Amino acid sequence: MAKSLGKPIICLFNLDAVRIGRPDVDSIHIQWELDCLRALKADIEAIGGVLLFHFGDIVDKLKEIHRKNSIDSIYGNQETGLQWSWDRDKSVSSWCQKEGVRFVEFPTNGVIRKLESRDMWKQERDLRMEKSVIIPPTEITPPFDIESDKIPNISDFGLVERSLINRPEPGERAATATLQSFLDERGRNYRRGMSSPISAQSACSRLSPFISVGCISIRQILQHTKKKLEAVKRDPRARENLGWTGSLSSFQSRLAWHCHFIQRLEVELTLDSIAMNPEIDSHLNRSMDDLRYQAWAKGRTGWPFFDACMRSLIATGWINFRMRGMLQSVASYTLWLPWQLTGLHLAKSFLDYEPGIHWSQVQMQSGVTGINSIRAYSVSKQSRDQDPDGDFIRYWVEELRDVPTSFIHEPWLMDLNQQKEYGCILDVDYPRPIVDEKVSRKEGVSRSYSAKSQPGVKRRSRLVYKLHGSRKRQRGAGN
Ligand SMILES: Cc1cc2nc3c(=O)[nH]c(=O)nc-3n(C[C@H](O)[C@H](O)[C@H](O)COP(=O)(O)OP(=O)(O)OC[C@H]3O[C@@H](n4cnc5c(N)ncnc54)[C@H](O)[C@@H]3O)c2cc1C
Repeated sequence: MAKSLGKPIICLFNLDAVRIGRPDVDSIHIQWELDCLRALKADIEAIGGVLLFHFGDIVDKLKEIHRKNSIDSIYGNQETGLQWSWDRDKSVSSWCQKEGVRFVEFPTNGVIRKLESRDMWKQERDLRMEKSVIIPPTEITPPFDIESDKIPNISDFGLVERSLINRPEPGERAATATLQSFLDERGRNYRRGMSSPISAQSACSRLSPFISVGCISIRQILQHTKKKLEAVKRDPRARENLGWTGSLSSFQSRLAWHCHFIQRLEVELTLDSIAMNPEIDSHLNRSMDDLRYQAWAKGRTGWPFFDACMRSLIATGWINFRMRGMLQSVASYTLWLPWQLTGLHLAKSFLDYEPGIHWSQVQMQSGVTGINSIRAYSVSKQSRDQDPDGDFIRYWVEELRDVPTSFIHEPWLMDLNQQKEYGCILDVDYPRPIVDEKVSRKEGVSRSYSAKSQPGVKRRSRLVYKLHGSRKRQRGAGN
């Protein structure tokens, strides 16, 4: 926020009170934001600035500052969020209009406000991505009588800290170092390594938590990636360049998906509650079953690989894309649970929760867009494909630590003597499968195909495509 460029500047971070207690927000999110904010505060102060912190309603704080400092202009970032954040932005905008304050919002990614047609999206996004990144100031002058606020702890908001294993270091410098290590070495194996939850931990960029709070932008990442690709293409046979081309091109597609999916929320604010294709959702008519939900959410379904993925996510705040798809599609197809509820559990578990990507993906993996192919992951197949020796399972599902590879994917096949021998008594130490996966998954898929073929659903799907569909087919992410 500034009087105007060159005039005194006040930096302000507002934590919206409405977020505390929202069903999609967890203490891990607030903790991460505050930790990143501490790093930002140090950077601002290092160049002479101050950072104010306010908890509550942003307009109240603006009024207070305006009374003392007469605000000339406000600079913020364009945020694409759910209804509450849209309402907040509108209230800031009308206050500014009333007070004659200039309100400038900078885009941070390829999401286009007031997009007239999806046909134009890619072109506009690519143009924006090519623009140079704004150079940060080297000096900030605050009004003379203002000092930075102390950044509170999450307990000040009545929240209980939940520590995540291997949570990244917060802040812009850590984000840049993470990108660097990805483009220097880790990303070489991106294409081959992204599918398994074991290799993906280092083969994926791990930038998502930084992107979600603005420590690094998609444009910055893309521009660095393009530079790397140019270097690789200049001398593709050089030892240090081998294996990079495919991985960098897959990575660039993912960066485009980021904006493609958030664009959906920009156009339709209710993706957390209303299906893009409400007709198909009402035909599917999924229902809550507490026993199934609890088993799914806690990683106690009795399918070892699924449970390992869910437990790993809860403990670390991250899991790779394919496994996220599996967690959601098992909830929706195999267990027939409502996507709105299971989506909330995942939102609270992902450190990188980004509403536009999240709810678009939750809907896609639940088959309620009508424009994506039905993709119901088989846990049994993923288990054998992604964790053939069962190492990931044994690490996260301690009850199965001593179970040999011959039973690790299907421990329910052990007889009582084997259960005793391997220290895992079924129903006592570890549950039997909550449902027969093969039968339930098949039933879910067939109900979905039948719903998808209804004339009313098809009509709506055409509208969904017009509004949200990718004009270029994107393999893997659906469209
Ligand atoms: C059900 C479900 C929910 C998801 N929820 C989120 C979420 O809340 N926040 C989030 O950032 N991602 C979400 N994703 C997408 C994806 O799984 C994560 O972006 C990725 O795993 C983050 O790890 P990374 O940064 O190492 O990704 P990388 O593979 O290194 O990709 C780099 C960046 O590209 C973008 N990206 C990658 N894959 C996708 C994708 N499929 N769709 C859109 N953008 C993508 C992200 O910004 C990511 O940080 C979800 C996927 C599913 C199936």
